[in-house]
Amino acid sequence: MNKNWMEKETEAFAKLFKPNQNTGHCPECGLNIDLDIASYKNGVAICGDCFLKEENNMNQLEVAEEKGLQDVLVFQISDDESVAAYSLEEAKSWYMNEYGISEDELYSNDDIEIVPMDKKVRRGEDEEGSISVQEIVNNYWEGTPFIATTTLC
Ligand SMILES: [Zn+2]
Repeated sequence: MNKNWMEKETEAFAKLFKPNQNTGHCPECGLNIDLDIASYKNGVAICGDCFLKEENNMNQLEVAEEKGLQDVLVFQISDDESVAAYSLEEAKSWYMNEYGISEDELYSNDDIEIVPMDKKVRRGEDEEGSISVQEIVNNYWEGTPFIATTTLC
């Protein structure tokens, strides 16, 4: 018996909109995804939402890891000297290493204060005028700790 027009139509329709065989699940959120248009992360197909989320996370991570001038702090590490560094630990270990000083010769962590960036200090023994701690950091920071202020010159 011949198929009636309706059956033929349905078959054609089904063929036309045959569900894509190449599908899978996003491993991150379980969503059904079309592998032909999926985004890939490390060779694994994931959905567009998770891909974007991943990208944002990576961007944030990069920003967090990339420290710059604005992250530099100046620590009053002893009576006489302050050290510019990203962290107190960095300042201390650099200072101890550089001058062969043991930790107990420095202020204890509780006593070490962060020098305000707007604090003005003398430019130097033979120089007139004063300079702010911020200017010192801006002028001399090259990615590694250094003595920002000293009373020993
Ligand atoms: Zn997903």
